[in-house]
Amino acid sequence: MANNINSYISTLPVYQATTATAMPSAINLPEQSSQTQPLENGSAYVKSYVSPQINKTQLSKAQTQNDPVINQAISALKEVKFLPGDMEYMKKLGVNSIFDSGEDAAKLIKDRGIKVEFGPVDGPKVHAQWEENGNKIIINEKYKNTTDKAVILAISEAMIHEAGHAKDNDDLSSKQEEFDCLALNTLANRYHQQTYPEVFANAGNSAILNDGVGLYTKLFFDPDPDKKALKARIMEKYGTLDQESPNHPCSAGSLVSNLGTTNK
Ligand SMILES: [Zn+2]
Repeated sequence: MANNINSYISTLPVYQATTATAMPSAINLPEQSSQTQPLENGSAYVKSYVSPQINKTQLSKAQTQNDPVINQAISALKEVKFLPGDMEYMKKLGVNSIFDSGEDAAKLIKDRGIKVEFGPVDGPKVHAQWEENGNKIIINEKYKNTTDKAVILAISEAMIHEAGHAKDNDDLSSKQEEFDCLALNTLANRYHQQTYPEVFANAGNSAILNDGVGLYTKLFFDPDPDKKALKARIMEKYGTLDQESPNHPCSAGSLVSNLGTTNK
């Protein structure tokens, strides 16, 4: 199975689960060996997350972040486990692995004292950005006070992308670095879609989903073996960037290795 990407894709349905509470039966959750608690749909997080009466005592674990939506997103980030085979799939596309899990990314945010906050970003289509100077991950302020659960999950997926930029300790980016970070939000989105099908079944039309994390899940797992739509999107968004940046080498077999660079 692992030798054939397309047959692998067909075993991991996306956007198919519609029941309100049941876990999709065909999904294998990651190995539990390093876990102290099993991942299940009835975890403490799920109960607080789906409750309309979320209160601050349920958010007490995120001590360094103050905004309640940011705190919920950090919790959602911490529980992300990459689905079995997903990282191998990404590596075959030429992705460099940055984190092993959402917990791994949340640990970097905590250990480095990175602030995560809502604020102005560089453009209306930017969902989140990393600011090396301020040691900050900025989430587009238009999502502040959102109560849309799919958007809160999407914010957590944007966080893992930006934490991926933060990890290399520079404010440079490149097509390969964006590719590596886009893989992270895709891996996190895949986990959340399979863990919270009811949330995605009821998701609204927010841009952070449809033109952000949800879109990249479709593009990375496009049945087209050449991933032409993903390449076109990367050129549209990141075409002016260099091919590689420190800690983000571009292998000859990487999907982004032959895209060229548009005029700066
Ligand atoms: Zn990026």
